Amino acid sequence: MSFNKLKFGSTIGIIGGGQLGKMMAQSAQKMGFKVIVLDPNEDSPCRYVAHQFIHANYDDEQALKELGESSDVITYEFENISSQQLKQLTENYNIPQGYQAIQLLQDRLTEKQTLKDAGTQIVPFLQIKNKQDLYQASKELGYPFIVKTRFGGYDGKGQILVENESNLDEAIDLISNQECVAEQYLDIDKEVSLTVTIGNEQQTTYFPLQENEHRNQILFKTVVPARSNKENEARKEVDKITNAIHFVGTFTVEFFIDKENNLYVNEIAPRPHNSGHYSIEACDFSQFDTHILAVTGQRLPQQIEVLKPAVMMNLLGRDLDLLENEFENHPEWHVHIYGKSQRKPDRKMGHMTLLTDDVNQTEQYMLMKFEGRDK
Ligand code: ADP
Ligand code: MG
Repeated sequence: MSFNKLKFGSTIGIIGGGQLGKMMAQSAQKMGFKVIVLDPNEDSPCRYVAHQFIHANYDDEQALKELGESSDVITYEFENISSQQLKQLTENYNIPQGYQAIQLLQDRLTEKQTLKDAGTQIVPFLQIKNKQDLYQASKELGYPFIVKTRFGGYDGKGQILVENESNLDEAIDLISNQECVAEQYLDIDKEVSLTVTIGNEQQTTYFPLQENEHRNQILFKTVVPARSNKENEARKEVDKITNAIHFVGTFTVEFFIDKENNLYVNEIAPRPHNSGHYSIEACDFSQFDTHILAVTGQRLPQQIEVLKPAVMMNLLGRDLDLLENEFENHPEWHVHIYGKSQRKPDRKMGHMTLLTDDVNQTEQYMLMKFEGRDK
């Protein structure tokens, strides 16, 4: 599919003004685009780096219309917007990303079904509507298994690990409120992710394979290049996905690698991703740069050069408490602070990227720095 190339000075409308919207806006402005952001939070990180701010809920039709009328192209920074409304918007305004990816991926069940139909390897799962299904899951998947809500989960929210029969009650509580899926618990050796940008006429640009560690199901650190021989396989899995789903812009596929070195697709984020933040300093184009190039119809770089290996550490509220006094002594840490006014222990307040010739050593050094943190 091909779409129009926007002239510099055109306006990009972003639905969502969190840190991803902020970093998108910064790339867009570097390239000479204007930015309008819509966000329900008056104090959102994007507000002060945008030319215009629309303070409204994501489902406010009038506000979405205003965004559409004022923008030459619309993009989004997160996947939980109404696909129905996005569909309506695509009828009237220029939204090269379309609504299909959002529609398929905001529901874990259709996401998994789509991944399976596309021929990728995924962890065995079952749909869970009632208690009966849960008992069935315990038989078919075996303990431990994970129950995840179909809609709205992120950073491990809406997930319960069922270790044995005595844990089933918690899962029963979860499924009584929301439809869920159950998934086999995998004995994970490594988590990796691959960030990709799709541009005009399906031009595809891959970032290097990223190695991720989660703590409490929230991304803790990313190491690039990943210490894994699965990069080519991961690219092939991504190609299967892009053949099955219409994508434009930057998205990330999360993978698990088990102890036998088998690769499984976990989930897809149809937008720039936390595990791609290192690219701002470590690569010749960031995941936000290529996203903006893609949605404005420009040509993408053929390949992304890693200028230097990197270790990216997330800065949650608890990490800022621990480390903020050290920042002034470490200009080499490349600290990013998103500008959220309220600090919470598990809230993503920023991140930092260390460029290094020796990722193992830098990783050890950082682990030492983060040692005082709750696991
Ligand atoms: P979210 O949308 O919250 O990122 P994920 O499905 O990616 O949800 O789960 C968050 C984290 O929880 C994963 O990155 C992984 O560390 C752990 N996890 C999720 N599913 C499984 C599984 N089936 N087996 C083992 N660990 C898992
Ligand atoms: Mg995830």
